[in-house]
Amino acid sequence: MSVVTRFAPSPTGFLHIGGARTALFNYLFAKHHGGQFLLRVEDTDLKRSTDEAIQAILHGLSWLELDWDGAEVYQSHNADRHREVAEQLVADGKAYKCYCTPEELAEMREKAKNSGGSTRMYDGRWRDRDPAEAPAGIDPVIRIKMPQEGETTITDLVQGDVTKANDTLDDFIILRSDGTPTYMLAVVVDDHDMGVTHAIRGDDHLNNAFRQLHVFKACGWDVPAFAHIPLIHGADGAKLSKRHGALGVEAYEEMGILPEAMCNYLLRLGWSHGDDETISREQAIEWFNLEAVGRSPARFDMDKLLNLNAHYLKSADPSRLAAGVLADADAAGITVSPDAEKRLVAGMTGLASRAKNAHELFELSHLYLIDAPIDMNEKARDSLADPEARQTLNELAELLKKATSWGEDELDGIAREYAESMGLKLGKVAQPLRSALTGSNVSPSIFEVMAVLGRDETLARLEIAAE
Ligand code: GLU
Repeated sequence: MSVVTRFAPSPTGFLHIGGARTALFNYLFAKHHGGQFLLRVEDTDLKRSTDEAIQAILHGLSWLELDWDGAEVYQSHNADRHREVAEQLVADGKAYKCYCTPEELAEMREKAKNSGGSTRMYDGRWRDRDPAEAPAGIDPVIRIKMPQEGETTITDLVQGDVTKANDTLDDFIILRSDGTPTYMLAVVVDDHDMGVTHAIRGDDHLNNAFRQLHVFKACGWDVPAFAHIPLIHGADGAKLSKRHGALGVEAYEEMGILPEAMCNYLLRLGWSHGDDETISREQAIEWFNLEAVGRSPARFDMDKLLNLNAHYLKSADPSRLAAGVLADADAAGITVSPDAEKRLVAGMTGLASRAKNAHELFELSHLYLIDAPIDMNEKARDSLADPEARQTLNELAELLKKATSWGEDELDGIAREYAESMGLKLGKVAQPLRSALTGSNVSPSIFEVMAVLGRDETLARLEIAAE
């Protein structure tokens, strides 16, 4: 049997991190088994579904590189097929038309409420009634015939065996009186038609699974394997909600998180492989299984995400990071010369090892992005106000002009020799250098900066600062 999974978001909001993790698990499970990962947009609630949300979901998945197989399926396009299945179930005696009035239903609801849960919401009054008795002027709904006795057990691949007494499950509506399918029917028909073998989703759907299972059975279809994963909680242990801060995946993208860091973090949120913390996509595909998904909710921890992000920044391809910085520079209206662009790529590894996110990286990149004269922060300006510091820069510049090569080690050697000959600590030399060359007091090693800036740019900056 070849594995088919699906991610089935309802486009009523952005792609939140819980959804992104569900998508990731479905993706990894499918790829691990050499199967297919499908995407179904559950847009049947036309009032609450928006194009904007659909775009946000598609963008979020693409950003995370969770590419789905084939074209995405829009559930609303399948409404005719859903109706056809509902009518077939009536013809087969597995479902029936119910002509209850809103008043009758309100009465039943009241009764169920007062019974403290021992009575079903719908009492099944049209289940065996002769359709010839149907009152005129009422458009019926279609209800599924649920088993009335015994129990239903779901062998969940994460939760284990979960059992429910059948008398708690009433004959629910599968087709509304206006002919539109309910969510419970649409999910089942689409999962069957798409050949889904494994439904991996949040455990807020576990209760639905008991109903869906009987729809599959009534239709005579194979029931997919279910895997209900615990929801994500906030650091305080409460279910993740808006007050825990950014929840949409795009907010993390804007925060400067790399997609591979996000995926790694989401993977570790509720799934583990020994003590491994950093796990590449390839390893994740190789190792992912449902047995190692935890049964208790995982807590979202922003610091962990940032630490992973710093790790991935360090190892990311410099030209890819440079492209991101250049896009930010463009958005900020900074013109970057071809020379500066080369410097940026050459210096990227040193910059990336000091940044936790793309914003910090952009800030740090400033020293390579512009050509002399550079702007200076207050600390840098203050340190250069000292005539001795400027004297140091002048003398050092003279020595540097004579340098026969422009490597980091050689530049370091020249500065050290100079400091020694003057009876100065290296810091006394490095500090004005840093101010003059970077316009700030934080940067990668100053000799690395000099090597990346190159001879002309370094000397130009020193000259301006020494004036
Ligand atoms: N559309 C549902 C949701 O967004 C998921 C349904 C399912 O996975 O079966 O919560």
